[in-house]
Amino acid sequence: MSENRTHLDPDESREMAEASRQTEWAAPSFAAELFMGRFRPELVHPFPEQDPADRAEGDAFLAELGAFLRERVDPVAIDRDEEVPDDVLRGLIDMGAFGMKIPREYGGLGLSQLNYNRAVALVASHCASTAVWLSAHQSIGVPQPIRLFGTEEQKKKFLPRLARGAISGFALTEPEVGSDPAAMATTAVPSEDGREWILNGEKLWCTNGLVAELLVVMARTPSKVVRGRERKQVTAFIVETDSPGFERVDRCLFLGIRAISNGLIRFRDVRVPAENVLGGEGRGLKIALETLNTGRLTLPAAGVGMARQCLQISRRWAGERVQWGAPIGKHEAVAAKLARMASHTFAMQALSDYASGLASRGGADIRLEAAFAKLFSSETALRIAEDAMQIRAGRGYEREESLARRGETPYPIERIYRDARINTLVEGTSEIMRLFIAREALDPHLKKAGALVNPRSSWKEKSRSLGSALRFYPGWYASLWFGLQEAAPAGVPSELGGHVRFVRRASRRLARGLFHAMIRVGPALERRQKLLGRFVDVGADLLAMSATISNAATGRGGGIAGNGPVELADHFCRCARQRIGDAFRGVRHNTDRADRAVARRVLEDRYGWLEEGIVVACPEETGDGSPVAEGEEAAAGDPVAGAGTAGAP
Ligand SMILES: Cc1cc2nc3c(=O)[nH]c(=O)nc-3n(C[C@H](O)[C@H](O)[C@H](O)COP(=O)(O)OP(=O)(O)OC[C@H]3O[C@@H](n4cnc5c(N)ncnc54)[C@H](O)[C@@H]3O)c2cc1C
Repeated sequence: MSENRTHLDPDESREMAEASRQTEWAAPSFAAELFMGRFRPELVHPFPEQDPADRAEGDAFLAELGAFLRERVDPVAIDRDEEVPDDVLRGLIDMGAFGMKIPREYGGLGLSQLNYNRAVALVASHCASTAVWLSAHQSIGVPQPIRLFGTEEQKKKFLPRLARGAISGFALTEPEVGSDPAAMATTAVPSEDGREWILNGEKLWCTNGLVAELLVVMARTPSKVVRGRERKQVTAFIVETDSPGFERVDRCLFLGIRAISNGLIRFRDVRVPAENVLGGEGRGLKIALETLNTGRLTLPAAGVGMARQCLQISRRWAGERVQWGAPIGKHEAVAAKLARMASHTFAMQALSDYASGLASRGGADIRLEAAFAKLFSSETALRIAEDAMQIRAGRGYEREESLARRGETPYPIERIYRDARINTLVEGTSEIMRLFIAREALDPHLKKAGALVNPRSSWKEKSRSLGSALRFYPGWYASLWFGLQEAAPAGVPSELGGHVRFVRRASRRLARGLFHAMIRVGPALERRQKLLGRFVDVGADLLAMSATISNAATGRGGGIAGNGPVELADHFCRCARQRIGDAFRGVRHNTDRADRAVARRVLEDRYGWLEEGIVVACPEETGDGSPVAEGEEAAAGDPVAGAGTAGAP
């Protein structure tokens, strides 16, 4: 455990996360506009279609990659042995797969985000562990922050090496610091001559960390005084792992994606040349957050690959397995699952392509779209894996090798189910994604009227804020009630027109609901995570509906056989509308207060009697590390849940 452990108070964490938010964008975000009740179909329709030349380039690479996966990558052995064999890694390096996102001028394949996503989806559909090797390296590993923030010298020095297969990773998390990275304890101090930085600390769960040649490491650097106040600093470093003092401490073993190389790493007086600072001193947290903004586009793609695999297996099994005189797919309870799997896979694909298309074009604010795609797709993929498990039932729970021994088709549902679980936990847990999205949704209001409710603002700031609020809110609020009911955009099939009108109406209701909640709850809204989460979930479904409708109408969906895309978009929209209705009802009618009260009592151990009659898995420890004697109380921690640092990744 780190000796340098520091705990920031929630205000400090929030301030650092706030200061690291990206705020300048050329183009507006469709999702951000939805939260203000402004439905801007021109931002999502026509669907950002992939350029045919770009698609052809992707097709050629995917054909090579697909053949390699089929012939050389045995996902069952990889999962069982918990290792990706060297010859597989070598083969992937040789075809350029570790340089997919690295521009051609630096020796990479220079694939667009969309083609990169397609490649990740393909690999993930076959072997999620292998997909994570690739994505930890180039979605968040050294190539990505160097591309975004590196100097030309850094690009020339590192990118060709990374494209040739020098594996890399991203080291942010620490034993004491997960969702709140601003509180990190790893430090870097300048050497006396200022030519180097000296790193000390530990990083946990660093994917590829046990094999990487290069890591991007976030560390706390000496604080600075800005306008009379001390500002904590986090800086990003490119670290060569053959540096003296770098230690690979332990490999971590997991439920799924078992063959990833992930572990605890340690820095003891590791010297890093000053020219390896990325993006300038003090910009480390911003670099981490912005790397994750685009990095998290990979998870939806991987989710799509897994969901497609689940759909295919479930379709085949539901057609061939006969129980009670009919294929199980004809029984309504199973049929409903199949329908949901198909329409939601289509929606995941549309949202993932939409967000990645925006990223490929550049200039647009994709933070919300990427966060929504990550949140929606990781949760939906998990639900789809769960549905596939239920449809395969006993065989879903059985491992591939065991099925094969009996001569049955070794469908990999058990493995996919385990592998899919990680996606709601990494690159921002679902809870943190909801907070992050809620923070961005509230941003226009905080800009207009934040000073009015901020106890730290001066009277001058408050009066300025009051003026801007009085100018803005009356007209804006009226528009949420009396907006025009315009026709659906041209090209939207008539079957989907009603859904477009629903999105327009629901976005106004969403904006009103959020505004009313701000007035009703005041500054405490930040802590009402369940309430905010309902608005976020409505936003997620409205965005997914919009992307899905647009894709069915104009995107690649439009070119696919018959009316299928329109049928699936219609089904998805019906499901989403039901969820949205439930979420809006939940704003007023919920168990939030009761949840808080019971949870507080759980933390106070008032229901200890409910936990009796078990073999205690891990006896609690006292402060000095010895087990608590029976009847003795464990030292109580602070029962209050961490305050919402909505800017954290
Ligand atoms: C397989 C794997 C690979 C990983 N790869 C990497 C990597 O390459 N690089 C890297 O830096 N990290 C990596 N991680 C770390 C991963 O990003 C963290 O696990 C994640 O950030 C969550 O941190 P935590 O597990 O410490 O959970 P915690 O932050 O301790 O959170 C525990 C729970 O509390 C919730 N929670 C926390 N704060 C709040 C809040 N304010 N409001 C509401 N809920 C809250 C969380 O959502 C979660 O449910 C990896 C982890 C795993 C398991």
